[in-house]
Formats: sequence, structure tokens, C-alpha cells
Amino acid sequence: MKKVISLVLVFALAFSMLSVSASAAVKTECNGDCDICPAIVVPGIGQSNVWALDENGDYLLDGDGERISCFPAIFNVGSIVAKVLVPVLLTLITQRDMGLSNALRSVVLDAFEVNLCDEKGKNTGNHEVEKYLYSVAECSEYEKEQIYDNIPLQAFAEKAGEDHLYYFAYNSFGNNYDTVAELYDFIQMVKEETGHDKVNIVPISMGGSLANALLDYYPDVMDDLNKVVYIVPALNGSTIVGDLYTKNFAFFDTEFLYNGFLEALMDEEDARMIEVIARILPDQVLSNVLHNVADCLVEDVAANITSLWGLCPKEYYPEASAALLADKPEIKKQTDMYYQAQVDSLENIQTLVDKGVEVFNIVDYDFPLYLIGNSWNDDNGDGVIHLSSTAMGVHSALVGETLGEDYRQANTSVNCSDKSHNHISPDGVVDASTGLLPDHTFYFDGQAHEQTARNDAIISLATRLLSTDDIKDVYSSEDYPQFNGRRDPRDLKNHYIPQAKAVDTSALSAEDAAELREALAEAEAFVNSTACYDGQQEEIEERLDAILVKIGVKEAEVEEEPSTFFTKLSLWLFDNYGANGFSEMPYLTILKIYTSIYKTVNSFIGLLVG
Ligand SMILES: [Zn+2]
Ligand SMILES: [Zn+2]
Repeated sequence: MKKVISLVLVFALAFSMLSVSASAAVKTECNGDCDICPAIVVPGIGQSNVWALDENGDYLLDGDGERISCFPAIFNVGSIVAKVLVPVLLTLITQRDMGLSNALRSVVLDAFEVNLCDEKGKNTGNHEVEKYLYSVAECSEYEKEQIYDNIPLQAFAEKAGEDHLYYFAYNSFGNNYDTVAELYDFIQMVKEETGHDKVNIVPISMGGSLANALLDYYPDVMDDLNKVVYIVPALNGSTIVGDLYTKNFAFFDTEFLYNGFLEALMDEEDARMIEVIARILPDQVLSNVLHNVADCLVEDVAANITSLWGLCPKEYYPEASAALLADKPEIKKQTDMYYQAQVDSLENIQTLVDKGVEVFNIVDYDFPLYLIGNSWNDDNGDGVIHLSSTAMGVHSALVGETLGEDYRQANTSVNCSDKSHNHISPDGVVDASTGLLPDHTFYFDGQAHEQTARNDAIISLATRLLSTDDIKDVYSSEDYPQFNGRRDPRDLKNHYIPQAKAVDTSALSAEDAAELREALAEAEAFVNSTACYDGQQEEIEERLDAILVKIGVKEAEVEEEPSTFFTKLSLWLFDNYGANGFSEMPYLTILKIYTSIYKTVNSFIGLLVG
């Protein structure tokens, strides 16, 4: 028996050594001996696939046989209707909250069930994160497509080799501490697999919060890093999430709910229609329902998700955690730890710089934050994250404003190499000398957060930073100035330019031919460059469009006169009845409204039929 056991032990030992040496085998062509460090992308929220599983661990499939994504939640229309139909009818008939709030709470909990976390901050939902625990070189075509769709770094992969590119996928609604531990291990794995002793990391958006935690929990990781290229990083969360955790929602103000809130999020006429329809409930009932649903979302869902706490700015955290985590000590222990990492964020980045790690930052500005919470206009931003968070404490004017003629550059950062630098943006909005890294932060005017990866200048800049050492700071190349603009030249490349090139100019008047040639040359120059100003692309598209229309290659776009029926009606109701529902208005008013809606619908049908 002893013999058997020792034999088994010997085999086990031999196999484990075999597997260790196998995993330690360097997989790169360069064997770790090349000038380009492997790059690890740490993506943003929702940029990793998380799939819902059934009780047997198989993928849940939708009606078309496709896997079901857990992000941001799973909405099953059939079960929602079944849950809310009766309460909605009862509430409408009685004009009181007859179970509607409870039904909607249950809808929210159902939708987020797959993302729920327990009192220890661990996921309880049945799902699988699609991870790529190998370089892009070993990814399937499908996996490559997922990765490049989120961040089109093909040019980097071509230069450095796909065996030098890694994508750290994680659950956006997962456990912050566990995810950061995985990221640390991932970095060690990349070093082993590539043979390089240092890596470059690219924390994007929410990935910035993971980088905060990584540097704070694992300070020795600083010695593993060659460069850090932050892209729109949430280094101090987002005020939107701060408002969420402090329940500082803009729509709690019913006056605003009926005039202004929805218009900021969607097309005005659609928004106004919803406002009119919402009046089938008295304002008190609607307000109750909204509060109940928001409470459920914040207390029962968001409060337990530690990764989401990673997006709560440090200024909001003490109040929010005291209110939401008083009876959840296990979660609070973890979020307190992250809070400390967030407080230490800029100090840790300074340590990186002092250690000789090259740190770059790419941010967007002058795009208003989504109007969800009341803090939406407390700072400049990129639609999703406020600017002082992404740009490491920078001071700026609000969206649509400037710092003013009399404003003088404050030069508060120790990292500006020459105090004669001009770090004020050409539009007078940003004083980059007040961010932690004035010489290493690139700003993109008017660029929206979610479209960042579609800005080819940003991708090209990131590629250059990751694959060469020729960009040392914002003064290294005129192609990549400190202040640049929004762009997404796909339409120009795929439609306008090919269309213009295909024109037979011999049939045109000399004047038209010259204009087409110049407009085309301008468009091609734009597409082939990486520096621009916000709005330049539209000017170029319009010029090319105008001449293509003039010579009859393109049809002029006829702008339909937009309908303003609901806009007028909603504003009239607001002026006369504030936030009141129909049942709170006099009978004659209701009659008038219904008659006018009836007439509109009738004439609309007449139009369709006739
Ligand atoms: Zn190499
Ligand atoms: Zn400077």
C-alpha cells in the first residue's frame, strides 16, 4: 500500500513540475527580448462579456438561440408585463398606488438577479465571465472580434505581435477585491508567458478604479510596470454614481420630471409624449413609485456591488457608506479599503512617476454629463465621468463656459517640466497645469466617453505610446498635441470619399470640378491626420456633401418638419397644472385634451389610409 502511495506521490510531483514548467514556458516569438513591452488592456464597464447560465451550468439562450448577456441586467418583457399589468390597471382605475411600486421592485430584482451580490459582496447570480487567459495570438476569431470591437488596437498587434497584447476581462458588477487580485495574477502570468520582466497596462474608464486598487493593494506591482496609458480613467469615480449612492436623483423633483429631465436624455417630442402619458397618474403616486424603485435599485442591488462602489467619488463615499452599509460590515470593510486606494490614487501615481514608470493619460472634455443626478453640472466632463476624476484633479470651466479672459495658469503640479509651458486649452476651458501630469495628459474636446474608442486619433496615440518610445510628452509630436478634438471619420472613409472619388469630373463645370477636388483633398488630409479641432469633421463632411448634392451625385437630405404636438401639449399642461396628473385636473380640461389627441390620431390615420 505504502508503495502505491509513494508511487502516486512521485507521479503527482512529476506531473505538477511538468505543468509548472509548461506554464512557465515563454510563448512569444521574441522570447522576451524585444523593445516592445506586452500591453494589457483593463477595459471599462460593460466591456467584458458575462453570460447568464441555467441551473445546469449551460448557457441561457434567447428566442434566437443567442446567449444572454448579464450586462447591465436581463429584462424579460413577458414576465415584466405579467407582473405589472394588474397593478397598473388597478392603480389607473383607483388613481392610488395599488401594488405598482411592489410590482416594479420585483421587476428590478428579477432583472438584476443575475448580478446580485450577497452581504459579503460576492456574486450570487448564475453567470460566466468570458475570460481570455492568454494573449490575443491564442484567441479564436470570435474572441479577437470581441476584443478589437471594444478597443481597436489592431495596429499595435501588427507592430508588436498579437502575442504582446492581452485583454483582462472581468465582471463589471463583480467583487472589487477579487477582481484586483485576479488582475495582479494576470500581470504575473503575462510576464511569464511573454518572457518580458515588465508590462504596459491600459486602464480604461472603470479600469482606472481597478488600477487605483492594484497600486494600493499590491504596491510591489509598480516594479512590473513599464508604462501606464490611462484612457478616460475613473480615478475618482463618477459624480453620476456618487449621486446614485446618495440618492441625489434629479427626477425626484417632479417639476423637473415634467419639464426638462427627459428632454436631456432623448428626442424632445418623444420626451414630451412620455410626460403627457405619465399624467395618467397623480404626481404623488408617480413620485412614490419612482422613490420605491430607486430605493430598491440602490439599497438592494447597488449597495452590495463592491466594483460599483469603486465608481463612487471620495467626496460622496463617507455619507453614502454610512447610510447604505451600516448593517453590512463585511461589504463596508472592502469598500473602505477601496476608498483608501481612491484617496491615495494621485499619490500612488506620483510614486509610479518617481520610480521611472512612464504614465500617460488620455481624457475627453466639454461634453455634458448625463443628467441623472443633481451633480451633473458640478464639473466639466465627458458624458459619463467628470473631468477632475479622469484628468487627475484638473481645474476647468463648466461645459459651455470658459475660465475667463483674466484667468492665469495656476501651475500647481510639480510635474510640469517648464513653467513657461502654455497648458490652457485653446478654447479657454481647461487649465492642464492643475492636473497631476500636465506634460503627459492629452485632452480631446467635445469627445463623448462612450465614443472614445471610435476616435481614431486616440487609438493611434495609444498605439504609438504602447509600441514606440518616440512620444515622451505632449510636446513630442505635432500629430498628437495636448489639446485635440472629437472625431470619428468612418463616414468620411467609407462613404463620402469613395463617392467623391468615383465622380467623372470631365462632365462637370470647371468651377464644380475645382470645388470637388478641393473638398476631397481636405477630407483626405483630415482622414490621414490625427490632429483636429472639435467640429472640424462636420465642416469637412458638409462641404463635401454640398458639392456632391450640387453635381447631382447625392440627393439632398430633406429635413422633415418635426412634429411638435406633444411638445406644445406637455408645456401647456406644465404651465397650467404643474406636475399634476389628469385626474387632478378639471373635467373640461381632460375633455379638451382627449378631443385634440383624438383629432390628431384621426387625421394621422387619414393620412396613412388616404
Ligand atoms: Zn517582446
Ligand atoms: Zn508643462
